[in-house]
Amino acid sequence: MATKSKSQKYVYSFGGGKADGNESMKNLLGGKGANLAEMAGHKDLKLPVPPGFTLTTEVCTYFYAHGRTYPEDLEKQIANALSEIEKLMGKKFGDVKDPLLISVRSGARKSMPGMMDTVLNIGLNDETVKGLIQTTGDERFAYDAYRRLVMMYADVVIEKAGGLEPVKGVGIRKLMEEKLQSLKKERDVKLDTELSAADLKKLVKEFKSMTKKFLKVEFPEKPWDQLIGAIGAVFGSWNGKRALEYRKIEKIPDDWGTAVNVQAMVFGNMGNDSCTGVGFTRNPGNGDHHFYGEYLVNAQGEDVVAGTRTPAPVNDFSKNDHSRDLMTLQKFMPQQFKELDSMQKKLEIHYRDMQDIEFTIEKGKLYMLQCRVGKRNGVAAVKIAADMYRENLIDADTAVMRVAPNQLLELLLPMIDPDAEKISKVIAKGLPAGPGGAVGRAVFSSEDAAEWASRGEKVILVREETSPEDVDGMHKAEAILSSKGGMTSHAALVARGWGKCCIVGCSEIDIVAKEKMLITASGKTVHEGDWISLNGTTGFVYEGAVPLKATDLHQNKSYRTFMKLVDKTRTMGVRTNADTPEDAEQALYFGAEGIGLFRTEHMFYGEGSEFPLFLLRKMIMAGNNEDRKTALDELSVFVKKDIRDTLEVMQGNSVTIRLLDPPLHEFVPHDRAKLQVLAKELGVSLGILNRRVLALHENNPMLGHRGVRLGISYPEITEMQVRAILEAAGELIKAGKKTKPEIMVPVTVDVQELRHQKDIVDRVYRETCKKLKIDKIPYLYGTMIETPRAALKGASMAKSADFFSFGTNDLTQMCFGFSRDDIGGFLPKYIELKLLPNDPFATLDQTGVGELMKIGIERGRSQKPKLEVGICGEHGGDAESVKFCHRLGMDYVSCSPFRIPVARLAAAQAVIEDRK
Ligand code: PEP
Ligand code: MG
Repeated sequence: MATKSKSQKYVYSFGGGKADGNESMKNLLGGKGANLAEMAGHKDLKLPVPPGFTLTTEVCTYFYAHGRTYPEDLEKQIANALSEIEKLMGKKFGDVKDPLLISVRSGARKSMPGMMDTVLNIGLNDETVKGLIQTTGDERFAYDAYRRLVMMYADVVIEKAGGLEPVKGVGIRKLMEEKLQSLKKERDVKLDTELSAADLKKLVKEFKSMTKKFLKVEFPEKPWDQLIGAIGAVFGSWNGKRALEYRKIEKIPDDWGTAVNVQAMVFGNMGNDSCTGVGFTRNPGNGDHHFYGEYLVNAQGEDVVAGTRTPAPVNDFSKNDHSRDLMTLQKFMPQQFKELDSMQKKLEIHYRDMQDIEFTIEKGKLYMLQCRVGKRNGVAAVKIAADMYRENLIDADTAVMRVAPNQLLELLLPMIDPDAEKISKVIAKGLPAGPGGAVGRAVFSSEDAAEWASRGEKVILVREETSPEDVDGMHKAEAILSSKGGMTSHAALVARGWGKCCIVGCSEIDIVAKEKMLITASGKTVHEGDWISLNGTTGFVYEGAVPLKATDLHQNKSYRTFMKLVDKTRTMGVRTNADTPEDAEQALYFGAEGIGLFRTEHMFYGEGSEFPLFLLRKMIMAGNNEDRKTALDELSVFVKKDIRDTLEVMQGNSVTIRLLDPPLHEFVPHDRAKLQVLAKELGVSLGILNRRVLALHENNPMLGHRGVRLGISYPEITEMQVRAILEAAGELIKAGKKTKPEIMVPVTVDVQELRHQKDIVDRVYRETCKKLKIDKIPYLYGTMIETPRAALKGASMAKSADFFSFGTNDLTQMCFGFSRDDIGGFLPKYIELKLLPNDPFATLDQTGVGELMKIGIERGRSQKPKLEVGICGEHGGDAESVKFCHRLGMDYVSCSPFRIPVARLAAAQAVIEDRK
């Protein structure tokens, strides 16, 4: 970075009804500094903020660019700003009669709670402490403040910022804490507040000599040296270990830098007419429109955070099980509460959002120390957005932008109780594949899951990976945990479709035997039947049964109001991936406007699939066309019923039915008993049947005999399905019902394949109209775009397609050459090394796969401007990917039922972001 000119302003003052900065200057002043300036200086607020000044983030970037030094005239600017504080407070820094004490705190653009350092009570030394005793008349308080300063200073400035190794592996703060505890033990007291002034004075002395002895540095007596040292330490903590790790997780750029706020100290621990507290302008847990907060009498902020004393509620609305019997601030200090209440209201109206505030009352006088936009959970976010819109505090666009799309999932699924989660033990972490929470007893096979569940047990199915044969157990389990697999592995896909909690790719677990697994990271062994809990939204696995919390969408008025705004805003349709009438019904409830992917093969998995699956196997294993045809005729009854029921449930909305996709060998039984039954049915020996099974084997089935290739090799399979679709639709039309099937051909690479299949469709169409004696069955014919070639050949593909639906699971697999089922093995390393920003199977790779999509759409629409375009890969339910699809001009996205609200919201936000 270039050296700044000397005249640049690095220090921004606030206080006394004025401020150099304001709320819009977060990049320069950090969030905290900008809000302090706003609260102090804005004409509508002018709140009692202790005066102070902010050193800008540019000082931080200068500091790091110039070998931890400062711009030349910085100290002069600090001195000037300090004298402003002195004037406003009527006290002097370092004055032995009435010393001004100050705090030094960090404040980045984005809040990084607890990740950087703070030093309080700066300005105290052996001389000024006497002045503090004089002015407060409280020797105990003065020495308590002094010992806190020595402790913080030794820890933060001398040890951490000085880069000193902790003494014998134990930091100076810990050693000092031990000293404090042993003194309390000696005096036979429990609380710090029970120590006498003499005790604290003794501690100050001891802390100072410990600093000298262990850190080989003297505690600086000069207030100015203390101040400059503390500022350097806070800038230094921007690159501390905790801050670096937090920035990595939160993706906060390293070059933003932190600002530093220097502010006059006010004390909540000056006796029983003082207190300190935190609050929210609305309840962050449920969104209720009440001031919500807690406080501690005779305490400093760090005492509230430390959790050694139970904070009291500010008002009746803030009471909880622990604080029910404690005195509210409203009762304890009615006048100050009234002032505080009016300030919090003012702040919320000013910022037009829920605020998180910190306050202190010093000897009966109220100060506001901080305000920022308050964090809230999904339930609260929706309620606050809907309420604020109703209260005319925000407009519809703002309301829609206030909820993160994934937060809606919290409203739909039972979740792990956040309070209980905080005190539960994490035993492993995997990829969060299916959201919500689940609690159950660990079982290690699908059969056991089904068997235990039939006895009324709640189980969690733990597997290395799952396959279609596990579906029954998966369905009956509360949740699924797998050690392998990625976000679109079988387990993840199926679980998400059901809205079931699921964690995949949890490589820390090792299933060592049928009845136990070992968790390598924690060294823990989980036996069959042991209780475990999963948080499918974060990927954490907990030991024991952590309580769940249920939510009921039907009852949620705020959700209904909020989603109305969402639907009014969005322009892109939202369909669902559903394979059964039950799924379709569920999807309608969540707001689906059609089915974007009906995977026909799903009727051969899970409950009730036994007989159709047997017929399918008969068809696959048939030795000649005639046998195959017989099996297909038997099968068509089931296929037609399934399709007809689903078309009916969808009440005239589009239903995109995909022709059979997976390689046939996936359906072949592997156990001898089933093979024997099949051989008997087909009238062949087990040996012959086994040879036919072997013939189906492929080295790379994902790139093998699947998708449209099956329909080319066995046109009779296509014919049976098309007939089932058209007859089902025709019959519904004859019964006076509306229906809109779309026939979709999977895994295509060329228009010739589409033409080949279309010939079958056209013939069956004519035959069906004739058979049912109707003129017309409305339907569309189109293709999935799942191979890079299909996207590149968009223009010619569109010649024989009414629609394209991007199958981005396969498209991602084929574009990257990453197996969608095995990515769990190498993806974590890619993410860790930042080789990829995220899992491309979960969030669309916009610059690679996305480019293919863009090309496909452009070329397709150049041939057929009205070409309908959608997406039905798993990305259709991922908020960022949905927004990208909007920008590509797609007509709809399609996703699993439980993700529909997420997709609706993301689509609406894309419109607003576009406008901006
Ligand atoms: C896809 O490939 O994106 C798709 C939807 O099909 P499937 O996941 O069934 O392969
Ligand atoms: Mg596919």
